[in-house]
Amino acid sequence: MNTELADAPKSLLVAIDGPAGSGKSSVSREVADRLNFGILDTGAAYRALAWKALHEDVDLDDSVAVEELLDDWSFSISLRGAQVVIVGGEDVTDEIRDPGVSKQVSSVSKHAAVRERLNLMFLEIATESGLPGVIIEGRDITTVVAPHAPVRILMTASAEVRAKRRAGELPGSTYLQVLEAIAERDAKDQLVVDFMNPAPGVTLIDTSELDFEAVVEAVINEIKA
Ligand code: C5P
Repeated sequence: MNTELADAPKSLLVAIDGPAGSGKSSVSREVADRLNFGILDTGAAYRALAWKALHEDVDLDDSVAVEELLDDWSFSISLRGAQVVIVGGEDVTDEIRDPGVSKQVSSVSKHAAVRERLNLMFLEIATESGLPGVIIEGRDITTVVAPHAPVRILMTASAEVRAKRRAGELPGSTYLQVLEAIAERDAKDQLVVDFMNPAPGVTLIDTSELDFEAVVEAVINEIKA
């Protein structure tokens, strides 16, 4: 860490967890824009690592081999504006959203050693951003990555509502296909972290019956409070 960074004021951390389709990404992005905060999408980092492992034919179940990819993966992610994800100089922003990556990403994120290293990276990126605040969103941010964040929120929605939202985002996939893919990924991810029940002190926002603006306002109110 250089001294300039060490002296920089730390960003206010807002931790938001939730399953796929809970609305956490789109809501976080809107809240960040309104408050001039950054947003750190930790799922994008797991996706980028899965993309690299698939690209380099690394066995995703081999925790040592996957962890070794982190040694020189030169990852970067934008915290403001449209998301841009770079791995080893290559723009992988679109590739990491590929259904093939979504299907395999849980195999990469299940490795404890990989999670530990990524968690350190997340905290470093967020606290040294130089921005007034950073929303970190993921699955274990309120519990493991930033349990001391002054604002911690768990966003949920019923599986049906989540599948409907995602089906709209994935042209060519039927509602039932999306429902099945989400349920499968959630089941695997929940073996590693609990992102369906709020930990003590974490505010639960169920977005099933709320429209987008109402959720955005609820999050902004939490931050202001
Ligand atoms: O948020 P998103 O659905 O893009 O996350 C992709 C995957 O990354 C999740 O399915 C999960 O396996 C992993 N992930 C995680 N912990 C986080 C964020 C994402 O394990 N904090």
